[in-house]
Order: sequence, then structure tokens, then C-alpha cells
Amino acid sequence: MTGAMADAFAARRPAACDAAEWQVRCELAAAYRLFAQLGWHELIYNHLTARVPGTPHYLINPFGLMYREVTAGNLLKIDLDGQKVEPSPYSVNPAGFIVHGAVHAARDDAHCVMHTHTTAGRVVSCQAEGLLPLSFNAMFYGERVAYHAFEGITLEREECTRLAANLGRRNVMILRNHGLLVCGPTVGDAFAEHYMLQRACEVQVAAQASGAKLVMPAPEIAARASEQYERTARKGGQNVLLWEAMLRWAGSSTRASRARRPSSGSPARSPRPPPPAPARVAWSAARQAPSRPAAARTSA
Ligand SMILES: [Zn+2]
Repeated sequence: MTGAMADAFAARRPAACDAAEWQVRCELAAAYRLFAQLGWHELIYNHLTARVPGTPHYLINPFGLMYREVTAGNLLKIDLDGQKVEPSPYSVNPAGFIVHGAVHAARDDAHCVMHTHTTAGRVVSCQAEGLLPLSFNAMFYGERVAYHAFEGITLEREECTRLAANLGRRNVMILRNHGLLVCGPTVGDAFAEHYMLQRACEVQVAAQASGAKLVMPAPEIAARASEQYERTARKGGQNVLLWEAMLRWAGSSTRASRARRPSSGSPARSPRPPPPAPARVAWSAARQAPSRPAAARTSA
């Protein structure tokens, strides 16, 4: 994280929040905004989680909010059991955290975990052969993709052991008949993995649907592409550049959203009501949200 973005985050840090935690809060909130922009959300479901640096605690979205409503300040801090460790008017979805908790508990290096139900990801998760080395993006993975068989809605902690064992030291997993899961040492790294995996799934689904005869690359070519991506993106700094650009996008899109809304003192120009909750910039200062009833628990 270079100067401008880090300074923008730090300038809005509440005095009571540790600097390292605030940085992660800002980046995770931005990731939620970006997932909303990219259409990777499942309404109020699914989660992106991140470890609070140096602690056994994790940040997760308040249950019941749309991804665009998540801010650095309203992210919940929870333990591995999915229980809040700091007061908040929002509720947490402990059942939704089970999959994330399994990865966080098993992997000290997996500081961020992202799980989605995107259509393309879910289609590939339903295919017996899984992700095929068809396209540019798919070749970045090869043997790096783990698979976990569907065992029903993920509510049982016993499944966590099997899920973590199937993931092993990989950072990308396809949950059969369910969706995608990625993890990484930073929010930016996890975002990059999800982006490339999602694109690979989208192209695979479209290519198969085209009905045309498909060309499969030679295994050694796919292996070379995987090594090149590992060297240039994961280890070569490109993921850092990508994430900084995405943070700028998250900030500009939310500022534009605010600018389009009439000011509170001006007469309404449209019969449509304003959005139910203001979309603040992802790193806006923490604010107390109105108290709301706890929603029913549901799956991931
Ligand atoms: Zn799920």
C-alpha cells in the first residue's frame, strides 16, 4: 500500500481504532463495495472476512446489509466461533462464518477469505471436470485448484476439518455444487485470485455454451502460463498494482454515488425515495447505525 491510499485511510481513522486494524477495515470494506460493483454479491448473503492483525479476531459484514452498505466502521469483529467481541447494533451470521472460520483456523497465512455464489462459478462447480485449462485465466491455476464435495448446507463443524484438509496449502477452492472460495495473505491478494478465477469460470461457461469445437492447450503450455502468473502477479508486484487501482475505483464510485443524490436541504427532484442507507466511501469514519432486529440465521 503506497502513500496516497494509505494516507486517505489513515486520515479517517477513529482514535480508538488501532492503525493496522483500521487499514484492514478500509480494505475489506472496499472489497465489499467492489464485489457489489462487479455483481459478485448474493444479496445479503456470502462473506468476505479478514483477520484483525495480531489477534484471534476477524472482520465480517453485518448480517442484513447489502455489500454497498458495508463501511470500515460497521464491519463486525468476531471470534472463531462467530461471536461478536465488540458491541454493535448489527447481528452476525455465525452459520455463514463456518466456512471462513475453517480456513482461518487451519491456515495462519490465510488472512483474508472470500466466498461467493456467482453464476459462472456455480456452473463450473456443478461440472464433473471442474475448471478446465481452456482460457488464459484458467491456465493460471492448473493443480492449484482444490475441490470439496457438497455435503449439504454448510452448518456442521465436522465438515470444517474435511474442507480444510481438501484445501491444504492451496488458495483456491471450488465447492462442488455450491460456489467459489479463495484465500490470501492480504485482501488484495484474495481479490486478485477471485477475479482471475471468476473470469476463468465465465469464459469456460461461455465457450461451452457456444457449441463450437474447443481447443485445449498442451499441458506444458498451461503449466508455463501458471508459472508466469505466479512469478509476475502473485510474487512480482502486479497484484499490488491491481489492488491499489481497485481501491481508487471503490473510492471514486462511491463519491460519484453520493454526488448524484440531492442534498438533504434541497427539494426532491424525483418521486423515487432516496436509498435506504447512504453509501459512504468505504473508508469513511465509523458511525453508529440505527438499532435493528436480529435477522434469522442462515447458511453461507
Ligand atoms: Zn455458500
